[in-house]
Amino acid sequence: MKIICIGRNYIDHAKELDNAVPDTPVIFMKPPSAILKSNKPFYIPEFSNNIHYEAELVVKIAKNGKCVPQSSAMSYCKEISLGVDFTARDVQKQLKSKGLPWEISKGFDQSAAFGSWLDFTDKMKKENIEFSLKKNGNIVQMGNSKDMIFDIRYLVSYVSNFFKLQIGDLIYTGTPAGVGKVETGDVLEGYIFDEPLFYCEIR
Ligand code: MG
Repeated sequence: MKIICIGRNYIDHAKELDNAVPDTPVIFMKPPSAILKSNKPFYIPEFSNNIHYEAELVVKIAKNGKCVPQSSAMSYCKEISLGVDFTARDVQKQLKSKGLPWEISKGFDQSAAFGSWLDFTDKMKKENIEFSLKKNGNIVQMGNSKDMIFDIRYLVSYVSNFFKLQIGDLIYTGTPAGVGKVETGDVLEGYIFDEPLFYCEIR
């Protein structure tokens, strides 16, 4: 399986990091070794002094497919969760300033966290999906799928033009504003609507 991530998919987040608003999706990947399941602790790696949380809706791919048209894209999505795209922001900044690939700042071990899976029902696919992240009990990020620059339907179709979709692949759909640093002892809790799906202690 593979983990496909979308960057800068919410205008307010692109702006908070001084990035241009993209006219095509910004795509990067994480390896399967980056997976961190809910309720497992995240250990701050030694190579960074500025690990950020980025709360994102994560879609799990349920069918194999290539060059999927938008009209059938949603049939490839059967489950959805709340995940955290952990990012070594200091390392990313350095690499970005040199025009180099971000990989190590984004794809390191434990950087692809996600929670329990919800059935991505036809009803839910027609709704605006609200999600949020709490740090130490306080809401730090609130998002809504309606604010995505490129919606899930578009992303699934677009991504499949480059990477054949395979059962079990994950798509991280981008983070809204409010990203920030985690410190040892922090607790992160993620929600879709009011459903608690994700829990992670930072060590
Ligand atoms: Mg992200």
